[in-house]
Amino acid sequence: MTPGFLQPSVIELDKAALQNNILFLKNRAENGVKISSVIKGNAYGHGISSFLPMAEEAGIDHFSVFSANEAEIATCSKNNPDTKVMIMGMIRDEELEWAILNGVEFYVFEKERLKSAAAIAQKVGKRASVHLQMETGMNRTGFDEHDWEALFRFVKKNEGAVNVCGICTHFAGAESVANFYRIQNQDAKLRKAISIAQKFIPLPKVHAASSAAYLTYPEKQFDMARIGIAQYGFWPSRETYMYHMKSEKLDQGSDPLKRVLTWKSEIMSLKEVESGDFIGYGNVYLAGKNMKIATVPIGYTHGFGRNLTNSGYVLIHGERCGVVGLVNMNMITVNVSNLENVKIGDEVVLIGRQGDDEITVASFGEMTNNLNYEVLTRLPTTIPRIVC
Ligand SMILES: *Cc1c(COP(=O)(O)O)cnc(C)c1O
Repeated sequence: MTPGFLQPSVIELDKAALQNNILFLKNRAENGVKISSVIKGNAYGHGISSFLPMAEEAGIDHFSVFSANEAEIATCSKNNPDTKVMIMGMIRDEELEWAILNGVEFYVFEKERLKSAAAIAQKVGKRASVHLQMETGMNRTGFDEHDWEALFRFVKKNEGAVNVCGICTHFAGAESVANFYRIQNQDAKLRKAISIAQKFIPLPKVHAASSAAYLTYPEKQFDMARIGIAQYGFWPSRETYMYHMKSEKLDQGSDPLKRVLTWKSEIMSLKEVESGDFIGYGNVYLAGKNMKIATVPIGYTHGFGRNLTNSGYVLIHGERCGVVGLVNMNMITVNVSNLENVKIGDEVVLIGRQGDDEITVASFGEMTNNLNYEVLTRLPTTIPRIVC
């Protein structure tokens, strides 16, 4: 038996924060709109297998993943037999049988995939649960308007094999007001698809909104919203946050969403460095005075990017300590000259709260709209996730 040593860093997931966020989101649902929790990208870095049961406890029973392999992880992680998993993207013909037999719902946006699904459903004697994705103007995946009638006719004809659970699309860029007209056009097109569908089949669940559209366009929530980033406690963009705070007349400093994730490590070594000496590789950092340096066992291999060289921060004793010198593969050196009684083993927070201070995900680099998504999903799957 191996001793099961801990990794140099851990990711803690705050159950109370998630419950707070789900409640906040549910309170914004227009009469009975269902929330599907989007857990693609390893649950935005939170870890599917740790996050999913936590979300189930918070009252979620529908999850959206990107691919069949993520659906497999999700299916193995659920505790509630009624919990549904939906694949929004990649599924291969050879993965269809597994999905159908396990009641996993999946998007179809190609005629051939739909035909394969119907044939396999027939063969295994169980209906395929599909969501028909409509092209409404994002031009990524989805059935084009000229195919809609034939599509609905096909599912009507094959209703013994195909169970249409949803009609869907994806409102592109609802986090920016610059896309306002584009979203109005998508909305109009989706409604057109619905009216055509109704001539052939009973109307299934309609869904189109992600976090930004859900919060900014409540009239476009339809029957279900696919919520990713907001449940983890992040706003899709600064604009969405400002919009919300203004429309609810809330204090700009406060934030109704709470971050679920904290990434922490500990001090591995301490060292005094004399004024005039370089720290770490090359001549990236020159000590301008006598300094105290702590080494922390995380580096770019763990997702702490080299772009944080000489510019990132971590929290120790509730204080911000700057990264000095290059970010290495497995280590960073931080300036702890101002801390009293600092010792090996002291907690180091890389993302999240410690004392009264917080390192936000955004502080990992330049503020851009999608940075939160990218930083989170890059957190390696190998770091253990612990529910607190
Ligand atoms: C990722 C994704 C979502 C969730 O987006 P958020 O902005 O994180 O809420 C919803 N729908 C689809 C199709 C997605 O790919």
